[in-house]
Amino acid sequence: MSSCAKCGACSVVCPVFRTSGRESHTARGKLHLLDTLGLAESSNVFVDIFSACLLCGACMAVCPRHIDISKELVAARNSFSSFAGPHAYEKYLTRKLLDYPGSLAGFRVLGRAGEKLLADRLPEGSGLRRRLALFKDDALAVSFSEQRTQSVADGTRLTWFPGCASRYLFPDILASCRSLLANYSFSLDCPDDLACCGLADWAAGDLEGARKNGRKNIETLEAGNGPILVSCASCFAQLKKYPDLFADNKKWQVRAEQVAARVVELSDFLEDLGKYKQNKDAAGTKKTRVFYHDPCHMRHGSATVDKAREQLQRITGIEVLDLPGGPRCCGQGGLFHVAHPEISARIRDELVKDVLALKPDVVTTTCSGCLMQWQQGLAAAGSEVQVLHLAQVLERG
Ligand code: SF4
Ligand code: SF4
Repeated sequence: MSSCAKCGACSVVCPVFRTSGRESHTARGKLHLLDTLGLAESSNVFVDIFSACLLCGACMAVCPRHIDISKELVAARNSFSSFAGPHAYEKYLTRKLLDYPGSLAGFRVLGRAGEKLLADRLPEGSGLRRRLALFKDDALAVSFSEQRTQSVADGTRLTWFPGCASRYLFPDILASCRSLLANYSFSLDCPDDLACCGLADWAAGDLEGARKNGRKNIETLEAGNGPILVSCASCFAQLKKYPDLFADNKKWQVRAEQVAARVVELSDFLEDLGKYKQNKDAAGTKKTRVFYHDPCHMRHGSATVDKAREQLQRITGIEVLDLPGGPRCCGQGGLFHVAHPEISARIRDELVKDVLALKPDVVTTTCSGCLMQWQQGLAAAGSEVQVLHLAQVLERG
């Protein structure tokens, strides 16, 4: 039996419950089902209910009993078939695609080709046209393999974990990270054979799949001994989870702990440098209105180190915008947006509407999943507001 007090604190903060209004979508509701029916009673309805969670961690942050709700839900998902529940085949295929993340580069090429092909045929405001802009080929974009071969400054070598999306879909983020750190005489060494961080497998309850990716990353990252810089918030949270992932295997757990101890998030790393660049020339000029979207993995994770907002506030040419009620989830939730596209879109669109009312010029964040969700949300709203990774905004100053 869980130690849930049924206090309801988790319901108030749950983005899924606030959208669907279904008690079974709260942490309390799911724990109650586990306590009263148990997994032996699982049916498609049961699987559907347990898939309706973003694993955002908001409930855990307020739970007075400190229940590790994400762990309970992932353990429950572990007992379900990969092919049960809503949009199960799409979720399975997405996870398998991430086992071969290099294939994402092919999607980028296809998206760029598609955009060029349709550019003359689609009207300016077309939603499809905007969606294809997800793969927009920027003049600054340099392919990852080209970047790896660029000469690096003499300086401290950092091992870099950019995450699959940055590496294969958004190489301009890589260029910005490299350029930011070059100012401080760091060089970035990004190993060739990094796997997906394993978050998608873990969230789906495929713990063995997550461990497989984890073992590959640990073996690869052990080749270095300095800091491991992570520029995606979700990958950062997952790499920090590795010791827990290998709790049943002492040998691997020790190796996971050594790697996790070296993992550092981009904004935290920049903050430690202690001399973040400020744009002195911008005083008196029109400020860029920037909305910083806090990724849930940074907001509610145990290793909350997010310094992005403070860094943006220190740039004189930027005005940081905040929602009156504080930060909110964007509804992406990894494969949640595949399993529950309607709920995901409603969470996203409500947030986009409120943020657009602040009249931003730019929306920025550090999670690749959130970046894609914002791009789609703004496109759906017909907005031209730019979506950039934090490194790109900081680089521009
Ligand atoms: S993790 Fe987030 S979406 Fe899931 S039950 Fe908790 S608050 Fe709701
Ligand atoms: S906040 Fe914790 S104790 Fe309270 S209902 Fe939710 S899970 Fe139970």
